Amino acid sequence: MIEASTILKGNGIRIEEKYEERLEDLLASCRANLKTVDEELIKRAFRLSYWAHRNDHRASGELYIAHPLEVAKIYVEQIGFDDIGVAAALLHDVVEDTDLSLEFIRETFGDSLASIIDGLTKMSTAFETRDVGNAENVRKLLLSMASDIRVIFVKFADRLHNMRTLGSLAPHKQVKIATETLTLFAPLAHRFGFFTIKSELEDLCLAYIHPEEYKQITSGLRDRKKERDTYVKQFIDPLRDRLQTEGFDFEIYGRSKNLYSIFRKMKRQDKPLKEIYDIFAIRIVLSGEGSKGKEECWRVYSIITDLYKPLTERFRDFVSVPKSNGYQSLHTTVLGPNGKRVEVQIRTREMHEIAEKGVAAHWKYKEHVNSADSEMDSLLMWVRDLLENPEVEKAADFVKDFSLNLYDEEIYIFTPKGDVHSLPSGACPVDFAYLVHSEIGSHCIGAKVNGKMVPLSYTLTSGDQVEIITSKKQQPNPDWIKFVVTQKARSRIRHWINEKRRKATEHGRDLWEKRLAKLGMEVTDAEMGRISTKLRFPNTQQLYFELGSGLYEVNDLLKATKGMLKDDDPEKSESESLRLQYESFLSSAQSSGSPGLLIDGELHTDIKTEYSTCCNPIPGDSVFGFISKTGAIKVHRVSCANAPNLMLNLADRIIPVEWSRQKDVHFVSALRIMGEDRVGILSDLTQVISKTLKTNIRSITVSTDDGVFVGNVVLFVSDLEHLRRLIDRIKKVDGIHGVYRYEEQNDESGLR
Ligand code: MN
Repeated sequence: MIEASTILKGNGIRIEEKYEERLEDLLASCRANLKTVDEELIKRAFRLSYWAHRNDHRASGELYIAHPLEVAKIYVEQIGFDDIGVAAALLHDVVEDTDLSLEFIRETFGDSLASIIDGLTKMSTAFETRDVGNAENVRKLLLSMASDIRVIFVKFADRLHNMRTLGSLAPHKQVKIATETLTLFAPLAHRFGFFTIKSELEDLCLAYIHPEEYKQITSGLRDRKKERDTYVKQFIDPLRDRLQTEGFDFEIYGRSKNLYSIFRKMKRQDKPLKEIYDIFAIRIVLSGEGSKGKEECWRVYSIITDLYKPLTERFRDFVSVPKSNGYQSLHTTVLGPNGKRVEVQIRTREMHEIAEKGVAAHWKYKEHVNSADSEMDSLLMWVRDLLENPEVEKAADFVKDFSLNLYDEEIYIFTPKGDVHSLPSGACPVDFAYLVHSEIGSHCIGAKVNGKMVPLSYTLTSGDQVEIITSKKQQPNPDWIKFVVTQKARSRIRHWINEKRRKATEHGRDLWEKRLAKLGMEVTDAEMGRISTKLRFPNTQQLYFELGSGLYEVNDLLKATKGMLKDDDPEKSESESLRLQYESFLSSAQSSGSPGLLIDGELHTDIKTEYSTCCNPIPGDSVFGFISKTGAIKVHRVSCANAPNLMLNLADRIIPVEWSRQKDVHFVSALRIMGEDRVGILSDLTQVISKTLKTNIRSITVSTDDGVFVGNVVLFVSDLEHLRRLIDRIKKVDGIHGVYRYEEQNDESGLR
């Protein structure tokens, strides 16, 4: 970097004349806007930046130095803070984009300038990689990086210039950057009181995000400019006369609101431009200072309301109670000529400067400041305080700006402590409660929004302060599913419903089995299946669930069961014998079966493999192995009803297994087929099954009951695909309503 140090003195580089001129221009601006200017510092920063960026160009084709120069100029003119900030603006991209190191900047310009550059470099990478759509993230991001408040100030200037030159980028980048600017930088600029920057950013964003509306508004305003000017004159003239007579030193003018705020009004009120009345405001700026100035504001207010009838409900006194960003003014809306509503803003020059330039302008009016450093420190403390402890009201203001009705996807909600959370639009207090904490969500019984009780289905809007009221006794309500919008709330409620369902089902089965045990009765699962079908339950699980949750009485089930077992006596013995036949068949088929299994990727033929009868796995099923007491590996389907129990309680005996690709091995599988009882259904079924992939049927048993046909088919299949095709074909048989893989509920672990 020896070369660089000669550059700093202005040796060894030729600077194009037009950039020399722009440097002079910048220096003149510094002299006009800053308390003190170290011109040599700014010149050195310029030369170094010029040299470092000498081979770079902007997307517009200009030499890159044009960008830092403009950023520095915006910094001076619109923020007007100090010369170190100007130098930092000139150098803000060198560490990120050129070979110059931060160490070199530190050695050359000292710690404070280096730390600003460092903050800017970090911030720019952070914005590229992180999710900055969330107000809370942004606040933290800023806190972590803004060790020096000038980092944020330079960043505003940088963003403004990038927005001004956005036209050179590709359209998709334009929209992305404009959106980020609108949701993040414009509201932040507002937060710091940089009103002029904020307005320009917003208008530029509007042009890129909503080009049609932008054109409409600009041309609409242009068309009616003459009319508006005439009206403003008509309004101002008598007022000016009165103020002059009273001896005020003042400025008065009509000022158009920024395009974006007009756009928002049109959206909010759903009205065309010509029906928006307050597209301009009259502003009166007074020269009085301090308390004399405040008094002047009030005197002018009384003169205005003397001339024009005020709409008292629209009066705002930001003079006695400034906004959190320091903004002060009296706002009043009066009925002007022709009964039109006109907004008037009254402020002193000092208030005006703060309104335009924000926090930085405070320091211009601060006296007795010892050094630039202590000035910086106290400003930084002020900002940190602002960001770290947003009082609820103030924070709500902040976030109201963030929310931007334009972007309907996201809203920002406050806790009573002032923490902010973002939610999708349409969110209700339940969404908010689950967002804060699952426990709060599950136990919420009510909510207060801005201090008032609201129903849990209430639709929240940005800036709402929400307090959730919980009760330990409260449980999630399945109805909530109907109005929650967040994934988190929905999945938590569903999970809870499923869990509740599972418990009720268990409880129902328990009730039933205890009752049977008391009576010394035995009912097999297969019989339970038939009973469920007869009672028109979709399955036994549903029957148990309804028992467990009190929707169906155990006594009713008992009556039905007794009746059925009596009626079905011959069938019972038949089904019982079939069942025994089936089971013995299964065990013989399986113990002789070939072990088509891989353990840890290797085929083991020496380990005894059994296929569990509770779920009858076949190749293609996801399976796991369970080491049985006899040392054999018993294969279960992952979806087996016993699987959760085994995995949770006997995890040490679980072993991962996979199917090997062995051909010509057939596995036993069983299907339960349900449908309408009709003539010929059995022969139709057997035909379809044998024709499909030449499937061999081991046995078919059929029972019919009250017009319902239930068939149990045991067959040989090669794998899951085979079985699936069979099921598909069987489903097409006339009158068949359901085909299920047959599963028995044997419990392997014996833990139940
Ligand atoms: Mn830049």
